Amino acid sequence: MMSKELQSKQVTPYEPKSGEEYMNPDQLLHFRKILEGMKIELSQEIDRAVHTMQDEATVFADPNDRASQESDMTLELRNRDRERKLIKKIDEIIGKIDSEEYGYCESCGVEIGLKRLEARPTATLCIDCKTLDEMREKQIAK
Ligand SMILES: [Zn+2]
Repeated sequence: MMSKELQSKQVTPYEPKSGEEYMNPDQLLHFRKILEGMKIELSQEIDRAVHTMQDEATVFADPNDRASQESDMTLELRNRDRERKLIKKIDEIIGKIDSEEYGYCESCGVEIGLKRLEARPTATLCIDCKTLDEMREKQIAK
């Protein structure tokens, strides 16, 4: 579910011409389209879920039904919260496109690369920094 949300569909991958400058206006526009598409999709998902919750807000006579309904709702709310955070992140990244900072690693400044961004348009770290980051996280978790 989560990985599905973070992946871009619909938009065909960008094919750079040879010698094309990294993150030129065409490339920035391409990624802006992907990110805006993701944002619209997430907003629609939130809307849909809110309506479903309102429709399902019936009171069950059976306490077991009631309990499972409540945990469903808690889960739903948690998902919504995550989606809202993701939308916020996408907004921040669109802001980077506006300021032409998009596509560079936040940690070391190298080009993240078209291929990686195509798979993960919300990536803000290059693959090396990301790997280091994950290793560090694992060590903290231990
Ligand atoms: Zn880096």
